[in-house]
Amino acid sequence: FVYIASHDLREPLRTTSGFVELLQKQYQGKLEGKGDLYLSFITQATDRMKLLIDDLLDYSRIDGKAKSQEFDCNTLLREVLTDLGAALTEAGAMVSADPLPIVAGYRTGIKQLFQNLITNGIKFRKTDVPPKIHIHAEKINDEWHFSFTDNGIGIEEQHREKIFVIFQRLHTRKEYEGSGIGLAHCRKIVELHHGNIWVESIPGAGSTFYFTLPAAQEAIIKNQTEQHAPALT
Ligand code: ADP
Repeated sequence: FVYIASHDLREPLRTTSGFVELLQKQYQGKLEGKGDLYLSFITQATDRMKLLIDDLLDYSRIDGKAKSQEFDCNTLLREVLTDLGAALTEAGAMVSADPLPIVAGYRTGIKQLFQNLITNGIKFRKTDVPPKIHIHAEKINDEWHFSFTDNGIGIEEQHREKIFVIFQRLHTRKEYEGSGIGLAHCRKIVELHHGNIWVESIPGAGSTFYFTLPAAQEAIIKNQTEQHAPALT
């Protein structure tokens, strides 16, 4: 449903932004009163809606048909840190990690999970100290428990469940950019692997996001029985 709705919403949005662009080209500076300002508000809103729809499409694309494979989380982390290079440097961020395991699962999804947690650790930092993130993994029974600890702003206890719900945010976009889909994404990826994700935090001191992945050798991505939407054409 999310896939079809977001896919179909793109069309009327494309038309709206196309006509707003035409209006701007032909009438910019010629409109009376606040005409130009209103046009720029419409453009901002359509750009934002496009981003939200793209996020929703990405979210709906995570499914149980993904190919499971074994991979080394140390290599995966190095790739994520390379991709985030500019953002890490700009924020003066330090990311450290203990040795990480080899796991079996949906590599692209887990890479996104690592990336979202690190990006959030940087984004929700305190203004007076450079962001620090430490990653750790340990095997408990037949599961790997991963933790991503930051020294950021922290999360009040009453919000620690709802941040994993799609579009739930604790801040305005003026304070911190974002659409509130990142952690919902993380939860969906972890649950596809039969794992759990949760957060512990001390407001004002930092947060630790935990998630579990099975330590089994063979492919463990959950088999979904629902019908999947057809691929985009
Ligand atoms: P977004 O980052 O787009 O707001 P997320 O789903 O990634 O969306 O996060 C939801 C909310 O959870 C954020 O708006 C923020 O309030 C809170 N949050 C997420 N990660 C952290 C973190 N590391 N430290 C403090 N708050 C966080």
